[in-house]
Amino acid sequence: MKGDGEVGGGPEASGKAELTSVEEHLAEILAAIAPLAPAETGVGDAYGLVLAEDVAAASALPSFDNSGMDGYAVRVQDVAAASPENPVTLPVTAEVAAGDTGTYALRPGASIKIMTGAMLPAGTEAVVPVEWTDGGRDRVAIRAGADYGNAVRLAGGDAKAGEVLVTAGTLLRPMHIAVIAAAGRGSVLVRPRPRVVVLSTGSELAEPGTPIIPGRIWDSNSFMIAAAAREAGALAYRQAIVRDHPDEVRPALEDQLARADLMITTGGVSMGGEHDVVKAALQKLGTIKFRKVAMQPGMPQGFGTITAAGVSGVSGVEPVPIFTLPGNPVSAYVSFQIFARPAIGALQAYDGLGLESVRAELTGPLRSPPGRRSFLRGVLDRSRGRLTPLTGQGSHQIATLGKANALAVVPEHVVRMSEGDIAEVLVLP
Ligand code: AMP
Ligand code: MG
Repeated sequence: MKGDGEVGGGPEASGKAELTSVEEHLAEILAAIAPLAPAETGVGDAYGLVLAEDVAAASALPSFDNSGMDGYAVRVQDVAAASPENPVTLPVTAEVAAGDTGTYALRPGASIKIMTGAMLPAGTEAVVPVEWTDGGRDRVAIRAGADYGNAVRLAGGDAKAGEVLVTAGTLLRPMHIAVIAAAGRGSVLVRPRPRVVVLSTGSELAEPGTPIIPGRIWDSNSFMIAAAAREAGALAYRQAIVRDHPDEVRPALEDQLARADLMITTGGVSMGGEHDVVKAALQKLGTIKFRKVAMQPGMPQGFGTITAAGVSGVSGVEPVPIFTLPGNPVSAYVSFQIFARPAIGALQAYDGLGLESVRAELTGPLRSPPGRRSFLRGVLDRSRGRLTPLTGQGSHQIATLGKANALAVVPEHVVRMSEGDIAEVLVLP
């Protein structure tokens, strides 16, 4: 195994000074996003949402002493002499099932038949599992003694009353839902799923499923970004294609504002193209920073907030954050995963939507321009800790994207990595 790649020129050589770093761009985005107001939601609907309160046990768990097995409640002394050769036989004076709220008392020298989860009769010291007995109804022959507390689940043995069981900011998975329900909560405060409106711009775009003529392409970005937003936990609304005309772009954006917690456009924002109408339209609607970020693909980035024209400053009308992603599909995809996915997390006060990062050995070389962080598509074999770079890394090459399950990261100061080098690898969700 070798080092971590060949180092390129300094910042001057790369022109890095004029570029914004990936970290700085992401930090500005996250700082600009306020979490959505939490809402009370039934525990049955809370899966996949982010908890907005600490959930504590209202009472101890379990809340009463109960049996951990089907068997017989006994006093330890009464079964101490029991062995397979010389079983102890005790009368069975009652039977307690789970859910039975009656009061039972265990007499010395007797036993009570008890089921898993049933409340312990007063005076019980241990439960003898049914497997150690002949299972008798009126009398039971017990073949082994039991220690104090055997097969007994004491009140508070799982959690104390008031103990916090699930903390605010947790993305609720099935185990958390179990704990919330077990704590007796019928509903909890969670962040709503962010509503993300996705819009692709470009006069060359056609709906997939319709015929095209040379010069046109099928729109893939809006479907891809909507799917990626759903994967990230959002409700995504994909809008129809918007042509490169200012009279179309502005109303299309304004129309969607009312139902968006976040807007994402693709295309129409490259540096200097005169058909870059998104840029022109947004200059009227919002405060958006268009900049070059030190990365590849995805150098031209735009992020800011927009408000419908004419309502700016009216109370109750919140500006909506907006990403304007580059049009090349791979650039749009990588930009979404690096910047928009964490932003969807921020709308839910959740910091877990950065891509998972692992280290893996490269099975082939990688190249990267100086001064820019490259995100290169590859196939990660997690069990062997290896990443195979894919050929066809152009930012229009969507076929390669379809084969990838990970992105190798080549740092800004590195221009080449070789087979055997260890790379940081982002796992694609
Ligand atoms: P633009 O950023 O608008 O200059 O577009 C850059 C490249 O991405 C061009 O080749 C576009 O045709 C392509 N492109 C833009 N939008 C889409 C889209 N929604 N789906 C697929 N390709 C697109
Ligand atoms: Mg375009």
